[in-house]
Order: sequence, then C-alpha cells, then structure tokens
Amino acid sequence: MIKHDVVVIGGGLAGMRAAVEAAERGVDVAIVSKMHPVRSHSGAAQGGINAALGNREEDSPASHTFDTVKGSDYLGDQDAIAAMCEDAPKQIIWLEHRGCIFSRLPDGRIAQRPFGGAGAPRTCYSADVTGLVILHTLWEQLERFGVKVYEEYFCTALAIEDGIGSGVVAYNMRNGELELISAKATIFATGGAGRMYAKTTNGYASTADGMSIAYKAGIPLMDMEFMQFHPTTLKENGVLMTEGARGEGAYLLNSEGERFMFKYAPNKGELASRDVVSRAEWTEILEGRGVDGCVLLDMRHLGREKILERLPQIRELALDATGKDAIDEPIPILPGAHYTMGGIETDKFGATRVPGVYAAGECACVSVHGSNRLGGNSLLDTIVFGARAAAHAVDYVKSVGEVRPSTRTLKSEQERVAALLARSSGTRAPVLRRKMNETMSANTFIFRDEKGLSVGVADLEAVRKEFDESVIVMDKSKTFNTDLVSTFETDFLIDAALCLAKGALERKESRGAQSRTDYPDRDDVNWLKHTLAYRQENGLPRLDYSRSVKITDFKPEVRSY
Ligand SMILES: Cc1cc2nc3c(=O)[nH]c(=O)nc-3n(C[C@H](O)[C@H](O)[C@H](O)COP(=O)(O)OP(=O)(O)OC[C@H]3O[C@@H](n4cnc5c(N)ncnc54)[C@H](O)[C@@H]3O)c2cc1C
Repeated sequence: MIKHDVVVIGGGLAGMRAAVEAAERGVDVAIVSKMHPVRSHSGAAQGGINAALGNREEDSPASHTFDTVKGSDYLGDQDAIAAMCEDAPKQIIWLEHRGCIFSRLPDGRIAQRPFGGAGAPRTCYSADVTGLVILHTLWEQLERFGVKVYEEYFCTALAIEDGIGSGVVAYNMRNGELELISAKATIFATGGAGRMYAKTTNGYASTADGMSIAYKAGIPLMDMEFMQFHPTTLKENGVLMTEGARGEGAYLLNSEGERFMFKYAPNKGELASRDVVSRAEWTEILEGRGVDGCVLLDMRHLGREKILERLPQIRELALDATGKDAIDEPIPILPGAHYTMGGIETDKFGATRVPGVYAAGECACVSVHGSNRLGGNSLLDTIVFGARAAAHAVDYVKSVGEVRPSTRTLKSEQERVAALLARSSGTRAPVLRRKMNETMSANTFIFRDEKGLSVGVADLEAVRKEFDESVIVMDKSKTFNTDLVSTFETDFLIDAALCLAKGALERKESRGAQSRTDYPDRDDVNWLKHTLAYRQENGLPRLDYSRSVKITDFKPEVRSY
C-alpha cells in the first residue's frame, strides 16, 4: 500500500500548484496522474492569466472582482471571487520569483493584454503559450522539492472511511494492478469535462474523472449545466484560437464583412464576455450571415510583426488545420465546447463536504465563475485555489491522526473491474461515447429549450443504463490497456453529461452560458441559486437547490457590455 499525508490527483496547474504549496509547508505530498504532468491540458492554455497588477492602466482587485461577478451573471459566490482577485497579484509575483517567463512591457514590467469582460488590460501572458510556461515553472518546483509523482496511475475511486476521506484507489497502467493510496487529505485536480461534446478545445484526457469519482462517492457536483462555449475555435478540429487575438485587436466579421459584435455589445464589441460573443456568432450563422457555417476572425490589420511576436502559436495551428495564414487571410471560426464552469462543490478553501477531500482547478466549483467564466480567470483559479486547498489540507492533516486504510474500497474496485473484464458480450464504450457526444452537441449546445433538453436527458439516461448493464472491454491485457482506461473515462463523462443536461432542463431561465430560448430572461427571483447534483442509487442525478449564492458587495444588475 502506498501512503502519504497529502495526495493530489492530477498534475496540471492546479495539481502541481497544490503539491508545491504542500511541499513548501513541509508535509509529505505526492501526485497521482494518468499522464506526465507537463502533458496536462493546462499546457494548451494560450492567452494568459488575470491579475490586477495595473501595469498598463489603473486597476485594482476590487475592479477585477466586480468584472468577475458581472461576468458570472451574478451566480458566482462573491466572497470566493474577492478572495481570488485579491490573491491574484501575489500569485503572479510568486510565479515570477520562481522563474516564470512572462512577456514584458518595454520598461521591463510584466505585460498585460485586454481580455473579454475586463475593465482594464489585466491578463498577464507569455506570448500565446502561457499555460505551457507556467506548467514548466511548476514542474521545476516539483523537482526541486522532490515531490513523488505516480505517473500513469489512473485514479478510479475515492475511499471514504467513517465519513472521512482516506485516499484513493488507482489503476497502475503499466502493470494493470489496482492499488490503494492512503492519505489523510486528497486533493482532486483532474481538470474539465469538455469531452462530453463531439467537438471541444479540450485535450483527450479532459473526461470529468475527478468530478464523477467524487460524485459516485456521495459528494455533490455544482452548477454543471453551465458549459462555456468559446467563441473562436477551428471548425476543422475544434482547436482554440485564443481570446488574446481579439485582445490584441482582431475583428470578428460576418459574410457581409461587417464587425457584427457591435450590434450585440455596443460598448465592448469583440471583447464582450464569451457567452455573449458565442451567442452573437451563432445568431449570425443561424440568420444566414455565416461563411460555410462559420464567421471570420480577422487579424490581418495587426500586421505580420505583432502576429509573429504575440500570437505565433495560433497562426501555426490555423495554418496547419485550414491552410490559411492569418497574416494574409481571415480564419473561419465558430463557437466550441471549452470550459466546465461546474464541478465538485467546494468552499472558498477548496474543501468539500467530506473532511479530508478537496478539489481545485477546473474539476472544482468554488464557485468563482458562476454561470460564465471570464477569459484568463481559469489559470488564475488553478493557481489560487491549488495553493489555498493545499494550505487548508496541510492544516487539516496536522490536526488529525492516522486514517484507516480503505481495503474495502480496494476490494470493491478489484471486483468491479474484474467483472467488467469478464463480460464477453455487450456494447463497446466508444459506441456509447458517440451516442453521448451526439446528443450533447444536438441538445445541450448554445441555445437550449425544453424539447431538446428532454430528448438529451432521455438519451443520456438510456446511455447510462446501457453502459451499466452491458459495456464490454475487448482488450483483456494488463499492460497499457487503453481500452479499459477509455471505458473508465466514458463512464465518468456520462455522469457529468447527465448532470449537465438535467441541470439545464430544470433551470428555467437564461443566465450566462445557459441560454434557454423558451425562458429568455434571467430570473433572480426563482433562480439566483446554485444547482447541486447528487448521485442516486440508480446512477441518475437528484437535483437540490439548497445552496444559495453568496452576495456581498454587488447586487444583481442588468448585464450588458
Ligand atoms: C486550449 C485551451 C486554452 C486555454 N487557455 C486559457 C487561458 O489562456 N487562460 C485561462 O485562464 N484559461 C485557459 N484555459 C482553461 C485552463 O487552461 C484550464 O481550465 C486549466 O488549465 C485546467 O487546469 P487543471 O489543473 O484544473 O486541469 P488539467 O490541466 O486538465 O490537468 C488535469 C490533470 O489531472 C490528471 N487526471 C485526470 N484524471 C485523472 C485520473 N482519473 N487519475 C489520475 N490523474 C488524472 C491528468 O493527468 C492531468 O495531469 C484554456 C483551456 C484550453 C482547453
């Protein structure tokens, strides 16, 4: 049996930041990750990380807090948002002191670019490869502290003994053994769930693992109906074109060559928040002003030099996928599934309802993003709440005695997986995943209504049932059994998708990323509240609305850009 004080599941930005914090505070910490940490999806983050440094224009954490609350369409918890925004400048300096290479202003200070929904240019960046640069900075710190990394270990279940988190069970992908990893505190940092959709900006590993594992163990998922559709993704492969492009001044054009965003957001235009821009684009496309099902991202006027200096990666990504060079031609783009606002319910210290279990980063819902996340706030969330969760977990582990190793959970996982591998006829996971992807894309996309969502829920319930009764794994081998691992992942995605669709169907209003054509207005009287999804015996979610939104300084107002 493996044993540590703190075990962090996930080696992306949230996981590594948590592990470094715990190591700096002198406790025995390890990371369990299904892939090498620097391959985590965080490494794909392009545009930047927000902090009110005020390096270009006057700015303050209070202004960052207001923009985030407004961006969240007032569903974010304001105490948590304020904590994040106040901590942001300190965390940027923390990274800077550990060697993170940020782009610079001519006078040497950290550069900041404008991003959607922000009142000042406050997004710090490293060209358009910000995630990769921070990820490598944190990796160096892990090496410095000698943090143990269990790489290619796939966590399958959370162990809870006597109502207290006692570690996890993980599948060692190299030898096919399930192992018990005991810990006084477990921090989930497993990333998002974009793979619920057929097309997404997310990596193949963004499969809702931690969310579903916590949910199966009785911890609720919060606000899962809010999925962010990023306005600028490539039609060919779903790959992201950073909001930094618009931050640097790129235009969005329709088939008539019109900068249409000013019809929808007279003040902010292309830099309105993402939900607003995605809806505007989709409306243009639906009303016949699209170009082959897309609208155009035009960077030509930025000039070769600026594009090569600040946006080199997306120029290459677009060139590879479309054959078009952004220096000379506009790039066809459309909205795509990008970010999971919902996740494992936590408080503002990253703690869940179960003592000893924490969550941070995209798998968590603190909630700082409410119903719509602002660009640049997710990298910030991973760093701030990675550190906060670890700090809280360290205090917790110092206050408790040894935990009881959950041999019970190990045994039940061994039996479950053995039964799965023993099944010889049924449906393979990719077939079920395709069904899920299709219904999610058809019925839970940007514009939603009762009819579509009801179909979506029914389809997903059928997929859940078929998976539970008859999914089969053809590959029975022990070494790198990717068939088995992707079957686990499909199971997790189905849980997340069901919570999303059910939450969207029940929420009879439009708020942030949830746009109901049959309920077009925000309804603060009935719906200014969080959605909690608990797993029932039959595998389906039960919704609960007992958690209210924390409102401190900002009363809900009409939201316009
Ligand atoms: C293309 C793209 C660009 C983005 N750009 C920006 C940006 O510019 N600014 C911004 O603020 N946000 C951006 N985002 C969002 C942001 O990057 C992510 O929300 C954030 O990086 C998530 O970090 P994370 O640490 O929570 O998860 P991830 O980086 O996704 O890491 C998850 C980790 O969990 C591990 N894991 C998962 N499941 C298991 C399991 N079952 N067992 C063991 N390990 C497991 C994985 O191995 C991985 O190490 C972008 C997102 C994408 C997809």
